[in-house]
Amino acid sequence: MEIDEAREVRTTCPYCGVGCGVLAKIATDGQVSVRGDPDHPANFGRLCSKGSALAETIGLDGRLLHPQIHDHGSSWDKALDLVASTFCQTIAEHGPDAVAFYVSGQLLTEDYYLANKLMKGFVGSANIDTNSRLCMASSVAGHRRAFGSDTVPGTYEDMELSDLIVLVGSNLAWCHPVLYQRIAAAREKRPEMKVVLVDPRRTVTSDIADMHLAIAPDGDVALFTGLLAWLGQHNALDRAYITAHTSGFGQALFAASALNLAGVAAATGLSEDELGRFYSLFARTEKTVTVYSQGVNQSSQGTDKVNAIINCHLATGRIGKPGAGPFSVTGQPNAMGGREVGGMANMLAAHMEIENPEHRERVQRFWNAPAIAGKPGLKAVDMFKAVADGRIKALWIMATNPVDSMPDAGAVEAAIKACPFVVVSDVLAETDTVRHAHVRLPATAWGEKDGTVTNSERRISRQRAFLPVPGEARPDWWIIAEVARRMGFDGAFAHETPAEIFAEHAALSAFENDGERDFDIGAYAGVEDYDALAPFQWPGPSPGTPLTPTGHQSIRFFANGNFYTPDRKARFIPIRPTVETRITSDFPLILNTGRIRDHWHTMTRTGKSPRLSQHIAEPLVEIHPVDAQRHGIGDADIARVSTPRGEVLVRALVTTRQRRGSLFAPMHWTDQFAARARLDTLTASLTDPVSGQPALKHVAASIEKFTARTFGFAVTRKRPTTMAADYWAVARCRGGWRVELAFANDDVDWTAFAGSLFDTEDAEVLAYHDREAGQHRIAAFDGEHLTGALFIAPGPVAVSRGWAAEQLGEVHASQRQRFRIVAGRAGAGRPDAGATVCSCFNVGVNQITAAAAAGCTTVDAIGAALKAGTNCGSCRSEIRAIIAANQVQAAE
Ligand code: SF4
Repeated sequence: MEIDEAREVRTTCPYCGVGCGVLAKIATDGQVSVRGDPDHPANFGRLCSKGSALAETIGLDGRLLHPQIHDHGSSWDKALDLVASTFCQTIAEHGPDAVAFYVSGQLLTEDYYLANKLMKGFVGSANIDTNSRLCMASSVAGHRRAFGSDTVPGTYEDMELSDLIVLVGSNLAWCHPVLYQRIAAAREKRPEMKVVLVDPRRTVTSDIADMHLAIAPDGDVALFTGLLAWLGQHNALDRAYITAHTSGFGQALFAASALNLAGVAAATGLSEDELGRFYSLFARTEKTVTVYSQGVNQSSQGTDKVNAIINCHLATGRIGKPGAGPFSVTGQPNAMGGREVGGMANMLAAHMEIENPEHRERVQRFWNAPAIAGKPGLKAVDMFKAVADGRIKALWIMATNPVDSMPDAGAVEAAIKACPFVVVSDVLAETDTVRHAHVRLPATAWGEKDGTVTNSERRISRQRAFLPVPGEARPDWWIIAEVARRMGFDGAFAHETPAEIFAEHAALSAFENDGERDFDIGAYAGVEDYDALAPFQWPGPSPGTPLTPTGHQSIRFFANGNFYTPDRKARFIPIRPTVETRITSDFPLILNTGRIRDHWHTMTRTGKSPRLSQHIAEPLVEIHPVDAQRHGIGDADIARVSTPRGEVLVRALVTTRQRRGSLFAPMHWTDQFAARARLDTLTASLTDPVSGQPALKHVAASIEKFTARTFGFAVTRKRPTTMAADYWAVARCRGGWRVELAFANDDVDWTAFAGSLFDTEDAEVLAYHDREAGQHRIAAFDGEHLTGALFIAPGPVAVSRGWAAEQLGEVHASQRQRFRIVAGRAGAGRPDAGATVCSCFNVGVNQITAAAAAGCTTVDAIGAALKAGTNCGSCRSEIRAIIAANQVQAAE
């Protein structure tokens, strides 16, 4: 693609809920580069490693570019007609609840709005739920119980203004890196600011923590009810706020007092001394923000955890004030937008309530809809159970991958496979979910689509298109509108642009809203230049209002009460902690699932990026050294992690960061990237009774060593598709793919196996075989270029991964150079950089260790020497840990 003039487009990052502004520059040769938008109030120019690598993820490899019906290409007309007629027929024969949409926090607000409108107002069912159910449904439920509305009271600025940040169940450094960087920067300026990390694991976020409370899994309810009791006992309450703006305090305090400090210590696994220090720090620090994320939400007690936190903020009047408040950070780029349009099964549009007949009537009237869902629909876990037992007969999955991300994923996959009619709209041709679709609809991807997203602080930003739409891909809103029209709902889905949909959504938010509802962006309904819309935080102010001296508005809720309950008072929720024991003698460990720094969800985007794939290139499980020894696991062994639902094979990482008795494993790997690493095949469909959010962080599991007789490593230009190996994991690298392998036996024809990984037929093949020692090395060259190399050994293969991957891009002109590949070691003067730490500048752990040993004792000194950590900053906490480890070693 060539264009006359380079241009830069303002858009928004498609990954996490921080919602960073991105400037995408398209050069005249079509090359795209990205940088942080210095004017965006979420990030002020910062981007993390994932955001910085966005340009590496926009290629068309693997894209679904044309509609397909039953694996065959189709026209849009045929595919849309089939979807519309099958949904209509299913509804006619079995009623509206026989169909369902499973949508996504990756959809733009405009897409989400139309999907919700079609299902709730025109199909007449509320069977629309979303992967956001897995992300923050407990926060929504907790907000609604306490505030009467799903309102995030504070802003990001509060974290910088606070004197104490309590991070609960949040590895902010890896999961919301730019917020972490904002906090780290604020702390550097004001060293008196304190950070407490509440997490069973000592994650890299502990790097900025003054206190790490290594709490027992699900101990948070006890921790915060204990805090409420302590605040009451130590006269640390804001009685005036409680009296004027809340109800139910007495009952909540009474319930909290059921547990004394010793009881809280037993339930949390923390010492009374630790509890006392934390409680007294909280009690005396007026400007306190409690930031919480999936460790709170993804629990069978998630809603109680949220309310236990909110109770403490209400009791101290620390809400909606600069530097004070409870703060739920969302995982997904548009989980908040989905909440605004009511895209969950138990919500209605524009923060109205599906249980409220007045609200239902109002929305139906606004939409001029033939129906309105009369009751909440099925939440995600129940929805897939209904697919499994045949109640749901037609399912449309949009922009998400439930075969990998839902709990009890094996059962979910079986349900989808058995469903009579499955439609998937996606950007990729092959995912673990797409492969089961009867109809595949090609959607536009980030950079091609146009609309809005809302971040965790209620800030609405535009995602703008800057790339041509490839093949026959279409925006999700267009696909939904086309299906709706073909179902006979022409007039209500006549939108021709996302701007028209946004205007309707904004108008609905203000419709008969006399201050009774928090979400009101009616001032934007008539916005003339949607394309130029600047980021704004709802509920206002009106477009064009002059900015504050800091350059942006910070809009907070509830400093002076005025909640959205019938009496406008916040509700304290009485909470009694319960301690659950899930482990058994067969499954004696607690598995916690989560994310890593450089991958996102099921890797459909980050898996395309070489630099994001080098930080952690394999699925893994973290285990404490004591547990590892007890279960016979050595560092870097391949481990079999099992639960009653299934098993995975992953690389073991033995680390004291992990709590004893617990395991941690990331949820990103799918069948597209590894042999057996779909982590959610292990998790249970146990959910929070209020929010319906699955308990993905507390699963009883066992672990044992997978005894491999042979190990392998390969690099290859083409992506290997099938591998006859017990364990394999592929990761993108520059010029191709790197592959880790393990085999239960050594009876393998290695030459044939190499041929399955890379082209050996018309290639010059160099090989070294020492059958007695079990060592085999095979490399194939197309002229001067390496097409692939395979290294096999009876133990872990001692080849520098970074060096081997680099060889795919190098010229190997001489026989001597080519033999060096078969020798499997870096050439003289080419030291092994080690595993990548800094993705931006490709700096490895060995380089940083060497620089630390040579006298670089600060992260800035490492940055000056190697550039590591000087761009996005996502690796700074790891660099600090490497420096510290070097200092310990030097002292020993
Ligand atoms: S923190 Fe990183 S992943 Fe999240 S929005 Fe910002 S750049 Fe994207």
